[in-house]
Amino acid sequence: MGKIIVLPETTQNPISLIGMRAGVCWGADITDAAKNYKRGLECIENNHGRTLEYVNVELVIDGYSARVIREWYTHLGGSPTRLQASTRYINYKNFEYITPHKIENNEEAKKIFDETMKIITENAQKLEEMGIPREDSAMLLPLGMGTKIVDKRNLRNLIDMSRQRQCTRAYWEYRELFSDICKALSSISEEWAYIVKTQFMPKCEYLGYCPEKYTCGRKPKKA
Ligand SMILES: Cc1cc2nc3c(=O)[nH]c(=O)nc-3n(C[C@H](O)[C@H](O)[C@H](O)COP(=O)(O)OP(=O)(O)OC[C@H]3O[C@@H](n4cnc5c(N)ncnc54)[C@H](O)[C@@H]3O)c2cc1C
Repeated sequence: MGKIIVLPETTQNPISLIGMRAGVCWGADITDAAKNYKRGLECIENNHGRTLEYVNVELVIDGYSARVIREWYTHLGGSPTRLQASTRYINYKNFEYITPHKIENNEEAKKIFDETMKIITENAQKLEEMGIPREDSAMLLPLGMGTKIVDKRNLRNLIDMSRQRQCTRAYWEYRELFSDICKALSSISEEWAYIVKTQFMPKCEYLGYCPEKYTCGRKPKKA
């Protein structure tokens, strides 16, 4: 089970911040908290995407697979940045790994899966004992191994990510990871809870139709 830590550098009141930044450009009174909030809400509702880029999100994303983090890294818009746990300096003896639900619930499949992970651990250890450097033995590590990243991006990027990754056809672990992020952000302030509820959604919900070639059927295809 993965864990999301929302770092204190994450904007606490994103709607108010958006309203303050936009207010500077509109010559508004940005000392009025209620007006800032109202202006921020309007920016979001009117799709003024640039204003969303002032909202900072810094997370520790821990205990998800290297595979899902590989997909996470494809969201490049707005130049996000991140650090990832090293495979050179960390000892991956008995590394943690993510077991898919369909394998977890199938005794025979789970046995094969766990045995494979055990063999990888043992053989990586044998290579290290032979004097092979860890950066080389780490080539054996599977995409299913657990990893940890420190991630920094803006709200616009996260909203865009929700449209792709809350899609029913997106990889199940990504959907679970995104749902964990929604819970973690919603818990830090009411403004975040509002944003998660109204802005994070799969693209079919936003568009009113499904643009994917292979649809899940949740929304009709575009006529
Ligand atoms: C069902 C499904 C299947 C998928 N299958 C695959 C797969 O097989 N392989 C795979 O690699 N990915 C796959 N993806 C992921 C997807 O194709 C994208 O790679 C991923 O969502 C990140 O790209 P993005 O454009 O959505 O986000 P970002 O890179 O964050 O971009 C967000 C937006 O910013 C703008 N932007 C970003 N970069 C630029 C730029 N250089 N120039 C101009 N504008 C820019 C664009 O408007 C873009 O829409 C899949 C997704 C789904 C939902």
